[in-house]
Amino acid sequence: MLISEIFYSVQGEGSLVGVPSVFVRTSGCNLRCTWCDTPYASWKPEGTEMSVEEILAAVNEHPTRFVVVTGGEPMIAKEMPRLLAAFREQGKHITIETAGTVAPNGVPCDLASISPKLAHSTPSEEKGGKAWAEKHERLRQQPEVLQAWCSAYDYQLKFVLASEADSAEARAVIASIGVPVPPEKVLLMPEGITQEALKARQMWLVELCKATGWRYSPRLHIDLFGNKRGT
Ligand code: SF4
Repeated sequence: MLISEIFYSVQGEGSLVGVPSVFVRTSGCNLRCTWCDTPYASWKPEGTEMSVEEILAAVNEHPTRFVVVTGGEPMIAKEMPRLLAAFREQGKHITIETAGTVAPNGVPCDLASISPKLAHSTPSEEKGGKAWAEKHERLRQQPEVLQAWCSAYDYQLKFVLASEADSAEARAVIASIGVPVPPEKVLLMPEGITQEALKARQMWLVELCKATGWRYSPRLHIDLFGNKRGT
């Protein structure tokens, strides 16, 4: 499968923040978020073709059992079920970072880290062309797929919020899933790829969390390293 990068770092977001983990980033995505922070795995997918065995060897160079499969959208990679089965066989803790637009179909997973995309992610026709703008809008929210993930796995729902108005849309997405979602499984993150942009949004996000019981998630990797590849 096409691999953009494999690197060893600490998890930057979500309930396992700070846990040393190997990240396997597949290249290719079925969406085109206008603010995508990994355009090299979506808008202009780059990478190296690697077999499942080569990926396993690269992952096993690092002293942790925690693996994060990310993208792009890792669930569109044809060989992904076989890779995840191999991770399971080796006793890895598997986190899958997904936008929740592709059904899991029983793949091994310990934590489904799902980031449903809100309206502010849709690219303009000028940026993405009409075809991508329409495809993104059509695919970005699929309640039945979210339900399949949330019913089958331990999960967290991560929302990137750009403004306070986005919280109503996040609330509507959660309600659409059709299963009870405990508030502490909902993580809010500020939109932004610089410390300044994150700081500008963090205080109203914290207040929103206090009012709703949702959880604030830092973006530790940006605080520690800036928006750099391989971190
Ligand atoms: S789903 Fe993720 S990888 Fe794909 S375009 Fe959106 S932010 Fe980028």
